[in-house]
Amino acid sequence: MSISLHIPFSNAYAALPDRFYARVLPTPVKNPALIRFNSALAQELGIEINAASDKDDNNNELAQIFSGNQIPDNAAPLAMAYSGHQFGQLNPQLGDGRAILLGDLLDIQGMRRDIQLKGSGRTPFSRSGDGRSPLGPVLREYILCEAMHALGVPTTRALAAVSSGEWVIRDGREPGAVFTRVAASHIRVGTFQYFALRRDGEAVKQLADHVIARHYPHINSNDDDAYLQLFEAICRKQAELIAQWMQLGFIHGVMNTDNMTVSGEAIDYGPCAFMDAYHPETVFSSIDRNGRYAYQNQPAIGQWNLARLAETLLPLFNDDEKIAVEKATAILQDFALWQQQAWLEHMREKLGFSALHNSDQTLIENLLALLAEGRIDYTLFFRRLSDCSQPDSERKTLLQLLNLPECRSSATLLQNINNWLDEWQQQLIQRGDNAGQRMLNKNPAFIPRNHRVAEAIAAAEEGDFSVFEQLLQLLAEPYSSKAEYADYEQPPKPDEKVLRTFCGT
Ligand code: AMP
Ligand code: MG
Repeated sequence: MSISLHIPFSNAYAALPDRFYARVLPTPVKNPALIRFNSALAQELGIEINAASDKDDNNNELAQIFSGNQIPDNAAPLAMAYSGHQFGQLNPQLGDGRAILLGDLLDIQGMRRDIQLKGSGRTPFSRSGDGRSPLGPVLREYILCEAMHALGVPTTRALAAVSSGEWVIRDGREPGAVFTRVAASHIRVGTFQYFALRRDGEAVKQLADHVIARHYPHINSNDDDAYLQLFEAICRKQAELIAQWMQLGFIHGVMNTDNMTVSGEAIDYGPCAFMDAYHPETVFSSIDRNGRYAYQNQPAIGQWNLARLAETLLPLFNDDEKIAVEKATAILQDFALWQQQAWLEHMREKLGFSALHNSDQTLIENLLALLAEGRIDYTLFFRRLSDCSQPDSERKTLLQLLNLPECRSSATLLQNINNWLDEWQQQLIQRGDNAGQRMLNKNPAFIPRNHRVAEAIAAAEEGDFSVFEQLLQLLAEPYSSKAEYADYEQPPKPDEKVLRTFCGT
């Protein structure tokens, strides 16, 4: 006998009007096999599993459900409608082209969460796409979102990955897979744009009310300025999210308005990457030819996207468009300040300071300029800096980073870094800040470095999932170094370097 699985769906999104989505069932796949199931997350979601004694039977049933071959009880499968600005160009008709929302539920904390299949077949929004996902992007999203979660970043999560037993055709033939994503919701800036573009003010209001009830229940929707409060709350969440990306050296890669949630969770880990060598102009994505979504542009792009959101909400802000625009503009200006402030607080923690001082911004900027000049590994520098907080600390291990192949080291750079370290240590002493352990809890040892993600995917494509499992295990505890896995803290060797990341959709 196999397991019985109960998912406590209650489906608030499906209760919205028909024009918000298209009801559609997943297209079955030939031979689903479970790659991974996230039991801890399943528990959080209140999913009840009565497992039978036979592990293979259990895995088969999970594979049936999380491939879309078997629809769980009480699911209300649908593809969500949305629009979006892609690389600055408006596309009025996007929507879930290869994703199907199984439904939403209240988790054990009482928070509503979506469960969505990705790669589960064509929908009315598929346009010319096949509705499928290759294995590579599925594993990539799994690794990235779970790593982000462990790093403390608000993010969508991975509930399951299932191989389909089918091929998908991209550049060549690739094994197919289905990813199960969990999100606070899949409502995007582009979801608002979809209705605003169709001049459907009623739907915009319904969507805004749904978002208030779901994500910002502290807002009283009877308040005159309820929708301004909503816009401000979304801006604050995005300010914090982008500050997190910046402090971690993360580049999302495709910050289109359809890839920005209103919940403040990071979504859509396509051609994203963590920087190895620090440089503010870094771009990985093969489709980002003009560097629109370069590392340093992310705060400004966030603001641009939020301005597109504001445009959809203007009629709800005020009947007088001029006043509505003024109010929205003021919040958008504040967004830049909130983002900068949140980032400064993260950087302060990275440097081990217990409180932010006026001079800290300059200290941080000076350090980043040195890292950029030398193309020094961002994550490893801060990790090793954590061991250098005392005036008598041995600096050798830190300064060895200047010997890495990619580094543009020079005698002057070495001198300037030493001077910077002297100044920073002085500050710690003056403030009586005991930084060491605190810094180790803020500066990760393990991030999903591109070459490691690529290595895990390459092995999996040959049928070996152990590399993927190993990587996930280390990334689940990013702040604890493990002597036997010291290699995983290292940047890529020249021949391991991944220069470009691909959407792979
Ligand atoms: P993304 O680049 O992943 O954010 O996707 C942008 C749009 O393209 C969304 O509307 C997706 O649903 C759609 N899309 C991406 N890949 C596929 C595919 N293989 N089949 C159908 N639609 C797709
Ligand atoms: Mg997307």
